[in-house]
Amino acid sequence: MKVMNPGKPSLHVFETLESEVRSYCRSFPTVFTKAKGYKLWDAAGAEYIDFFAGAGALNYGHNNTVLKQKLLQYIQNDGVTHSLDMATEAKEQFLELFHQVILKPRGLSYKIQFPGPTGANSVESALKLARKLTGRSTVIGFTNAFHGMTLGALSVTGNKFKRSGAGVPLHHAVSMPYDGYMGDDIHTIDYMENYIQDSGSGVALPAAIIVETIQGEGGINVARAEWLRRLEKLCRKHEIVLIVDDVQMGCGRTGTFFSFEASGITPDIVCLSKSIGGYGLPMALTLIRPELDIWEPGEHNGTFRGNNLAFITAAEALRYWENNEFTKEITDKGDMLNRRLHGMTASYPQLKGQVRGRGLMQGIAFDIGGLAEQVCERAFSKGLIMETSGTDSEVAKIMPPLTIDRAGLQKGLDILEQCLKEIASELGAGLNSR
Ligand SMILES: *Cc1c(COP(=O)(O)O)cnc(C)c1O
Repeated sequence: MKVMNPGKPSLHVFETLESEVRSYCRSFPTVFTKAKGYKLWDAAGAEYIDFFAGAGALNYGHNNTVLKQKLLQYIQNDGVTHSLDMATEAKEQFLELFHQVILKPRGLSYKIQFPGPTGANSVESALKLARKLTGRSTVIGFTNAFHGMTLGALSVTGNKFKRSGAGVPLHHAVSMPYDGYMGDDIHTIDYMENYIQDSGSGVALPAAIIVETIQGEGGINVARAEWLRRLEKLCRKHEIVLIVDDVQMGCGRTGTFFSFEASGITPDIVCLSKSIGGYGLPMALTLIRPELDIWEPGEHNGTFRGNNLAFITAAEALRYWENNEFTKEITDKGDMLNRRLHGMTASYPQLKGQVRGRGLMQGIAFDIGGLAEQVCERAFSKGLIMETSGTDSEVAKIMPPLTIDRAGLQKGLDILEQCLKEIASELGAGLNSR
């Protein structure tokens, strides 16, 4: 066999055999072999700090030791792996723990639906149920929203490139401006309420409004608590089903288990996926206010709703939420991250960076086109994995596992700072040579 470049694993197999649709292996061009906690290693033995965390599917880190132990034990004992949605002990334990540890202490009452094991499938189930409940067809989504790649989820997604992939018109959805989209002077709930109340607006009374509390893929846009509360009021007033898509922001990403806790709102339906399985195993939940659970048996179905391996690790991951320690830890690390990012944007004002986000979902938005991509590329070459976000990839996004220690967080941020320093000095040199 020919050795291509001994220092760098070859991507030949992927480039020749895998579809052109592949994306993250283009952003992070190496072959990974091993992962633990907040670190990844490639086939050449190079070590990477992971500030991407499986797009939020690895909140508890790679191969979390405690979760792994439970999983290995379950497999060793020939525990049921696949079961459609039959009753299994693994599912029973998860349901009980989710009720005890998450819902009850928060005063929340939800029935728990297991849709197919992806975020998009949870969103599809939520849209279907809202339409069935109201007999209406329109759903309102927001500018820059991301809800997944299936047709229903795409219909309420903002991004033009992703929408056009549908190949058919995306009907029965209307896009409204997210908080801050129209500048500081226009409260976008007022704007939306006008449309909903006015019979001449051309917008039908919607079945549902679907919202992310922070738009993770759409550029780390944060909705204010007051905006969310007004949105909830609007939904109550017009009997519109309020769906919070907490697929990426849930499971502690912003500090609390649900991202909407700080605002005090109670959604009618909540979509969870990504980190709910705890170990990076596929799993999703749709939480439904009990009086809205009007599904007929099997009306939303799926072969992999019984991923028992995920139920085992999901149940164990809930132990992180048995008291307030984890929230405090995430908040502290989020504060540290925020201070360091502000330090960086202040040190290199020529990069025109603006810090966004909260908790361990933050980033820097750059005014200069292509800069965020350049930052992420350079970070990768120095052993730091991070991705861009936003319609024009204008935000460099920092999303480490929530379990990262302070030393690891600092080390990754040191690499990021070094990248900004180098890019700033190159920009300066470019300007001087003109
Ligand atoms: C990732 C994501 C989805 C889609 O989840 P998939 O598992 O990729 O289908 C939906 N909504 C939000 C907010 C997400 O971040």
